[in-house]
Amino acid sequence: MKNIPLVHFVRWEKIPDSQIDSTLNELKDMGADNIVLHPCWWMRDEESGSFLKLIHNKMLSANIIGTACHGLWGNNYDFNCPNEERRKQIVSSHCRFMKSVADMGSLTYTIHLGHRHPEYDKNFLYDQIRKTLDTLLPEAEESGIKIAVENMIDYDTSDEIAALAAEYNHPALGLCLDTGHANVGEGIKNAIVNTVPYLVTCHMHDNDGTSDQHFPAGYGNTDWEYLTTTLKACPKLINAETEAGDYEGLSRAAIWETFKKSWKAPQKKTQDLNPL
Ligand SMILES: [Zn+2]
Repeated sequence: MKNIPLVHFVRWEKIPDSQIDSTLNELKDMGADNIVLHPCWWMRDEESGSFLKLIHNKMLSANIIGTACHGLWGNNYDFNCPNEERRKQIVSSHCRFMKSVADMGSLTYTIHLGHRHPEYDKNFLYDQIRKTLDTLLPEAEESGIKIAVENMIDYDTSDEIAALAAEYNHPALGLCLDTGHANVGEGIKNAIVNTVPYLVTCHMHDNDGTSDQHFPAGYGNTDWEYLTTTLKACPKLINAETEAGDYEGLSRAAIWETFKKSWKAPQKKTQDLNPL
């Protein structure tokens, strides 16, 4: 079984510049030497033209790598943007950020397809997505990075994103399973059944099924033994990212340990698993 790197997500937009070095050192000290590259750095780069380089140098000094990136997200960066002029600008922004993080060593670039925009026909929105992918996928392939489409809760569910991956069957297009989103909406087993062949990365966090709480592993009602055993067997998985947030009484290091333990937990026998 291949060794999947565990990647730590930090809310870097909440960390002042004066604490970037100490946070990187804290991550290194607690054994989290692989982090998710964050879009707030790209936005700073757009202002100054050198912020990503600065961050990369800091990561190199702290001996930290970044094999996963969360692409630009929010209404301003939707792949399905209905306004054609704006969509072209969005493609250009994603393209520049994606190539920059590929140069920094990122292997996956996770994106959200975009909000449902109820005033527009779903087929039209998916055609907008296809136009965006048609431009970005060759760039991703050339840069050696995979675009990973993430499942959301009420839209872009696992069946829809899996259909898109199957339609394209492109080496630079994969999927990202967000376990918290799946647990609130369609259920983790259903989401895994749909996405297994295409998963290149995952966002792992827990909740009690009522909302996207970003709890640490084991603090919600997710079956982590099933989840990690199944993910480890995914043929194309490159990264396993944790998106657990702050949790009352737990340090960053304790939350990271919880994630590591849940990933290394004893495996069920393959024949006990559904769907693999
Ligand atoms: Zn996520």
